[in-house]
Amino acid sequence: MLEGQDPRATARPAAEILADLGPTITADGIGGHEALRRFVDVVVTSTRAQGDPLNLAYVPSAPTPASLVFDLAVSAAEIFAGTWEAGAGAIAAENQALAWLADLAGWPAGAGGAFVQGGTIGNLSALAAGRHAAATARGARPPGGWKIAATADAHSSVAVAARTMDAEILPVPGDERGRLTGDALEATVAGRDDVAAVVVTAGTTNAGIVDDIAGAAAVCARHGLWLHVDGAYGLAALAAPGARPLFAGIEQADSFVVDPHKWLFAPYDCCALVYREPARAAATHAQFAGYLEQIDRGEWNPSDYAIQLTRRPRGLPFWFSLATYGTAAYAAAVEKVLATTRELAAGIDAADHLELLFPPELSVVLFRRPGWSEDEMRAWSRRCARSGVILCVPTRWQGELVFRLCLVNPDTDAAAVLEALETMR
Ligand SMILES: *Cc1c(COP(=O)(O)O)cnc(C)c1O
Repeated sequence: MLEGQDPRATARPAAEILADLGPTITADGIGGHEALRRFVDVVVTSTRAQGDPLNLAYVPSAPTPASLVFDLAVSAAEIFAGTWEAGAGAIAAENQALAWLADLAGWPAGAGGAFVQGGTIGNLSALAAGRHAAATARGARPPGGWKIAATADAHSSVAVAARTMDAEILPVPGDERGRLTGDALEATVAGRDDVAAVVVTAGTTNAGIVDDIAGAAAVCARHGLWLHVDGAYGLAALAAPGARPLFAGIEQADSFVVDPHKWLFAPYDCCALVYREPARAAATHAQFAGYLEQIDRGEWNPSDYAIQLTRRPRGLPFWFSLATYGTAAYAAAVEKVLATTRELAAGIDAADHLELLFPPELSVVLFRRPGWSEDEMRAWSRRCARSGVILCVPTRWQGELVFRLCLVNPDTDAAAVLEALETMR
């Protein structure tokens, strides 16, 4: 955390920030020193400390020192990593990191993809590839348009992807915790020929629930459907041997995303997008034009696998961190977060003023504070944010406003969180 940055501050009004910042875009320039001073004093202090161990709202971030420092090196090296011709070395190193993830998923050596900006672009890119594969196999666009099968608890970016592709979400009913099951998927897609892809979530953002991937994979195999695993938040737990069984069936999926900027200790912005058979994605995304004709397409072009051409090698801070600390350290760090989450859930379960909704599957904890109105809940959350005690933001779960904590930081201490929750008494 940078000195002076309010650890859990809420956003200040623009007028206040601009008054502090003063005019910076001027005919003669204000000089590097002065611009840097304003960046340090005003800009950074007016942002949320994403890596603070008591920032437990939305999905925070916990980049390693090695990854943060190396991000500077990546920027300074000014590498165009869209094509092998320009970025070969950087792409080779990024691909080692992608190969580690693909291997954890049990995918063959031919698997691959690219690092993209975030899970939103990753999901859109993968689903576009799925739709292209469906259109290639089945011919013309169905009269009612393409459908993407997903539950209501799939991430909001899946609905945006569908809209962007002029497709519609085909809702799959979830079980009592919102989980997608093979039976519900079968009942939803049976007899249809307009399903372009199925999205399963490997760790819902709201509750950390992992869909039945194996069940979904069996249905997709039966009907020839593209299976995409959205693990932007939760697939990081593939690194933890204890959690790996949750993701059984992923070895049969066609694509997955996981955001190293969420729970794999890399800085923004970094999403790993991987395909089991990358050639199927290249058929969708590879760009061809007169001005690209002379490019030596070489070994591997990240621009072939997502909606991007020019790109920085944004996977390199993640690669450098993995290379520096080793994969065993990653396994231990993710296991630690899972253990802290269990400890926290047990503490909430034992507290007589709180009520745990259900034991956490990954690192999201949902709980109630019986007796409080929604306004009282929001007021407590805001008070804690302003005073910098903890960032704990309520969420809506099956219609009810409940408290939610999301852990990704191995430095988060369960006792410190429980102490902060004592103020709910
Ligand atoms: C965060 C998240 C996304 C979106 O990822 P961004 O990196 O924010 O674009 C997609 N799916 C899930 C499950 C997520 O948690």
